[in-house]
Amino acid sequence: METLGKLAVLAEGAKYDVSCSSSGSAGRRGAVGSTSLGGICHSWSDDGRCISLLKVLFSNDCVFDCAYCVNRRSADIPRATFTPRELADLTIQMYRRNYIEGLFLSSAVVGSPDDTMVQLVRTAKILREEHRFGGYIHAKAIPGASPSLLGTLGLLADRMSVNIELPSETSLRALAPQKSRDSILRPMAFIGGTIEERRKWRKSGRSGPAFVPAGQSTQLMVGASPENDFTILRLSEGLYRSFGLKRVYYSAYIPVAENPLLPAPATKPPMLREHRLYQADWLLRFYGFKAEEVLSPQQPNLDEALDPKTGWALAHPDFFPVDVNRASCEEILRVPGIGVRSARRILSARRGHLLDGDDLTKLGVVMKRARFFISCKSAAFPAFPAGGDLRRLLASPPPGKDNLRQLRLEF
Ligand code: SF4
Repeated sequence: METLGKLAVLAEGAKYDVSCSSSGSAGRRGAVGSTSLGGICHSWSDDGRCISLLKVLFSNDCVFDCAYCVNRRSADIPRATFTPRELADLTIQMYRRNYIEGLFLSSAVVGSPDDTMVQLVRTAKILREEHRFGGYIHAKAIPGASPSLLGTLGLLADRMSVNIELPSETSLRALAPQKSRDSILRPMAFIGGTIEERRKWRKSGRSGPAFVPAGQSTQLMVGASPENDFTILRLSEGLYRSFGLKRVYYSAYIPVAENPLLPAPATKPPMLREHRLYQADWLLRFYGFKAEEVLSPQQPNLDEALDPKTGWALAHPDFFPVDVNRASCEEILRVPGIGVRSARRILSARRGHLLDGDDLTKLGVVMKRARFFISCKSAAFPAFPAGGDLRRLLASPPPGKDNLRQLRLEF
């Protein structure tokens, strides 16, 4: 098969990985500017820039048979495998034509995890050392890969990720029997430990080559297995804490296989659930919440009608109103309608004078939500109303609840 034929097959095989924003978008295939067929996706670099990446598998010829995966060994699909030189040359050609700014390098398991890692390392080495490619590389580590290969790939990549996919050992055993919790967490621990080691080196004034400078991430599938949101959120919290992950990506499962253990092929992907999990994840990372505050064994799933922060506020009326002129940053961050940036602005602005409602609006506070939960200078906000009424008032299903999909701008 020629390189472009392989590209079509292997870009298709990579599209279910959601570590970039435009994954899974059908786009307008065949039209001028359409990037879906060529496997071009968009992601964000560490400094917040949007970057275009060539997202392909090195191979989709998998020896594993994960029931939820389009590339599983038992699937009847066209198979292809690049050579390291083919993929490196393709990447550099697309880079020189300005189609892409980087590479999202992943693979099915060809032979064994270490055999596959050797091929990924070779590809990255040709790019970095022969082509002197300085662009962004996000490399997937293969579950079960040995530390020495992870260490070599980590010196060549900007970001690495090991996908967890299923949130429990039980589901792994049922749906991905060739993988184990240990084979996934060990590489993750190695990458996280080495990143931390390098950070300490730099702090102590020692130099050394950068190792995975943009950090590591992972992907969790939502809706393929029966775990609730509480289990998923607690897992994410543990991953952030134990391995210093930059990001957990949640991926609404798109049924691709008939299997009694999986949702039926006609089942719609749980996009709204995915959206709420991202919001809850945001609370863990930036708002000082713990998973146990957002959910509990008694209430193990996120309310689809409310964003999780509003849900927490409605369940804790005793916490409010928060006096924005006196409260701590942590307390202000608990108010629905006040984000991290607005909270910082409030702390800075209130040094000069007591803030009133107009000041808060100017500082970016969404008053139509926040006004139920705050007090401030000379403002007569409604008292905290009875739960049911306020809940109705604040319910905010994202637009297109029934057909939630990737944002696309039409020009
Ligand atoms: S190892 Fe990866 S590519 Fe292979 S079947 Fe499992 S999920 Fe799919």
